Amino acid sequence: MTYAKIIVDISHEKLDKTFTYRVPEQLRDAVGVGTPVVIPFGKGNRRLTGFVVALSDTPEFDLKKIKDIIGVPTDALPIEAELIALAAWMRERFGGTMNQALKCVLPIKRKTTPKETKLLHLALDEATAKEELVQLHRRARHSVAKERLLTALIEQGDIPWDVVVGKLDIPSAHIRDFEKKAWISVTSSRDYRNPLKGMQVRPNEIELNDDQKKALSVFLEERRTGEDKPFLLYGVTGSGKTQVYIEMIEAVLREGKQAIVLIPEIALTYQTVMRFYGRFGEKVSIMNSRLSDGERCDQFERAKAGEVSVMVGPRSALFTPFPDLGLIIIDEEHETTYKSEQVPKYHAAEVAKKRAALSGASVVFGSATPSVTGFSFVKSGAYTLLTLPSRAAAKALPECHIVDLREELKSGNKNMLSRLLLAKIRERLDAGEQSMLFMNRRGLAGFISCRECGYVLKCPHCDVSLSLHRGDIMRCHYCGYETAAPKICPECGSKYIGTFRAGTEQLEENVAKLFPDARILRMDADTTKGKDGHDKILSAFANREADILIGTQMIVKGHDFSAVTLMGVVAADMSLHAADYNSAERTFDLLCQAAGRAGRGSVPGEVVIQTYQPGHYAIKAAAAQDYEAFYETEIAYRKLLHYPPCGALLVIQILSAYERDADEAADLVFAMLISQKAKVQAAHPVEAQIAKLKDIYRRAIYVKSASYDELVRIKDAAERFTEGNAACRRTVMRFDFNPMYGF
Ligand code: ADP
Ligand code: ZN
Ligand code: ZN
Repeated sequence: MTYAKIIVDISHEKLDKTFTYRVPEQLRDAVGVGTPVVIPFGKGNRRLTGFVVALSDTPEFDLKKIKDIIGVPTDALPIEAELIALAAWMRERFGGTMNQALKCVLPIKRKTTPKETKLLHLALDEATAKEELVQLHRRARHSVAKERLLTALIEQGDIPWDVVVGKLDIPSAHIRDFEKKAWISVTSSRDYRNPLKGMQVRPNEIELNDDQKKALSVFLEERRTGEDKPFLLYGVTGSGKTQVYIEMIEAVLREGKQAIVLIPEIALTYQTVMRFYGRFGEKVSIMNSRLSDGERCDQFERAKAGEVSVMVGPRSALFTPFPDLGLIIIDEEHETTYKSEQVPKYHAAEVAKKRAALSGASVVFGSATPSVTGFSFVKSGAYTLLTLPSRAAAKALPECHIVDLREELKSGNKNMLSRLLLAKIRERLDAGEQSMLFMNRRGLAGFISCRECGYVLKCPHCDVSLSLHRGDIMRCHYCGYETAAPKICPECGSKYIGTFRAGTEQLEENVAKLFPDARILRMDADTTKGKDGHDKILSAFANREADILIGTQMIVKGHDFSAVTLMGVVAADMSLHAADYNSAERTFDLLCQAAGRAGRGSVPGEVVIQTYQPGHYAIKAAAAQDYEAFYETEIAYRKLLHYPPCGALLVIQILSAYERDADEAADLVFAMLISQKAKVQAAHPVEAQIAKLKDIYRRAIYVKSASYDELVRIKDAAERFTEGNAACRRTVMRFDFNPMYGF
């Protein structure tokens, strides 16, 4: 006998509540996960439609009380069926419960109260406005913020109040000032359904260049022949990828289908959104993490009702319930934010491919520095490569200098800033140009390196950096290898060996001391805590209220500051020696992005990369902006050690408020894994890189295999094993397949 668990109400709170029904023999083939079914419900056996979320051979319910499913509706499958099937697949591939997966894919149903939105409307004609702009600029103490506001109004016509005071960071006094002068009118609406409603923008009607046309025609041709491989659109920043996406979407909309565009949250800027809006107008909607649950739900409802046909947003936009999805685009495909940090820890690229398969849509990935995994699919022929070899609006690449920090020490400079970088900062200050200093803090645990020769302590088995633990023990997180922390460098005998630790705060103090005349802004997790803290700092820098912006990777991604002509990478080694298999990839990506920040305006930019390992392939390739050189070296190393994509990795994370429970459960799960005789390599449990977080002890078991499916079986075995096991009662187990971040 087969039994089905069924949900009858797709609202968030009710997802936990499932009902068990019997699947009659004649319906056996018609019923799968996601299938809508008609069931008798409650005392009166009212007929309801529900969705199957799980099937099993054993009922978890009193057999006598179980009723039969009445039938399966014959009309076309509703979108919920597709999303529930997707959730089931996600649960299977990435772990977690069905309920967690469902909450991830199904829209939250909830009533919302209308929200008032205010709109700024330019009341001047364009010529007058431009004249006023010139006048503003001529004033002795002109306000950059006012100029920015007027410029934005001239470009856009109408701008929502929220955008003006939030993203553009214009003080409301300026708005009132403009109102008083009758330059603008402020209107208010009670429309809560559409976050972009009523905006007027220039139509986006750029004609594609030859490379762009070629990429588009390959896409259209393969779509027409039903070839249906995913595409990778590979082209440097500014090569015109977004414009190609827009034409691809246009083609799909013409077929009466819909499109989803994923963009990393941080790149979801006003300008980007406006480019889509400029072409598709009210048909496009956006999602971001600032939308309330209710607003998000509205977006989903509008999508389902056919009011919008293009959804632009971060990872979660992937689950937009479009009834006839034709295209999913994932821009900046290499970004680590496409991996969910919550259970199920899915990667958007994989879920996109699955959703596309379920709905018959095409998938397009785009990047200037594709992920090693993505590019390996091109090499294996699983993806079709589309390239944009040059920049649409030609601009020179910045000049890159690599500074060898070992040489600095030898010549007596113990400061974290090299003489070259100091000199370049001075030049910029004197010229009235802006600089950015980037200090990566990605490594969770400290690695040990020699400041004299650059030697880094690594695991002899796994080629990842060892990290320092209590009692001066160095440990490998992948295999558990341990050794005592050395007091002198094993390579050169120097006593300048130790953990590599420095933060943005120290850097700021240092820079302030060296350049007392400089105005400095710092952007990191500490300074961006408040609401809009992030945007405030960025806008202040854009408004040229500071000369130097110091920050973590937050400052590297996706921002355009035309007055920045110098980017200093203070410690490239920080990410290079993070104890993860993908640390070289992350470093290459960050350095390329960092290089891309300098020289966005008319003055060409310069980049200074400081490192103890100037010969490292990731650093050399980034300085030369040579993606393929990086890829070839990196993939050879992944092949050798069977790291993804040349093998699969699973981290079984075990968490507990009780240290002994965490250790015991980890040991038990490990022993069980060994007894499975699966085709995997499992390492003894280790403390996580953050061994204790918010009073929760964290343990990890690293499992490696040539086959992902084998790891899925290991996950299932571990789940079965811990379920109802008394020793695991006070622990939580989570799975992270092909991890992107340290744990
Ligand atoms: P990417 O998405 O690859 O970074 P964009 O699509 O943003 O590149 O293009 C970069 C700039 O070049 C934008 O300002 C865009 O308007 C412009 N652009 C793109 N395609 C063309 C084209 N065919 N002709 C002229 N300008 C273009
Ligand atoms: Zn040394
Ligand atoms: Zn190891």
